[in-house]
Amino acid sequence: MKYILFIALPALLLVSLAFTYVRHADKPKSIADDDQPRKVVKTDAEWKKLLTPDQYAILREHGTERAFSSPLNDIHQHGTFYCAGCHNPLFSSDTKFDSGTGWPSFYAPIAKNSVIEKKDKSYGMVRTEILCSVCSGHLGHVFDDGPKPTGLRYCMNGVAMTFEKK
Ligand SMILES: [Zn+2]
Repeated sequence: MKYILFIALPALLLVSLAFTYVRHADKPKSIADDDQPRKVVKTDAEWKKLLTPDQYAILREHGTERAFSSPLNDIHQHGTFYCAGCHNPLFSSDTKFDSGTGWPSFYAPIAKNSVIEKKDKSYGMVRTEILCSVCSGHLGHVFDDGPKPTGLRYCMNGVAMTFEKK
């Protein structure tokens, strides 16, 4: 009897360990709940091939599109806004609001770590730049004159994003 226990207990342990491993391996990779999000790193030449000239100018050269120039500004359907460079989900339509600025505006990113913030001191202003957390592409800026519940206004370039309906 003792002998059976000696065999059975380690065997049970191994089986449960194996199941735990399989469960974790099966879990789809989500950027939102990942502590260390995936990173996309490309050379300038690779980005140039992948992006349109407008997307490249904004995402990789920190440009700004003309106000009211992006069709994404007028989108009010349910869906998700993704990074045009790496398809990282950035904003939900649930947090989109009409800021009147001519740029797609949101009061919060879709997940805390979907974007990263960086101090931007260009053009004699101190602003907070918003970058994609996966490919470090420039998306826009965040200001503290947004609506409730966050009071933030993520002022984004529509060219830097794509939209997919829910
Ligand atoms: Zn990206």
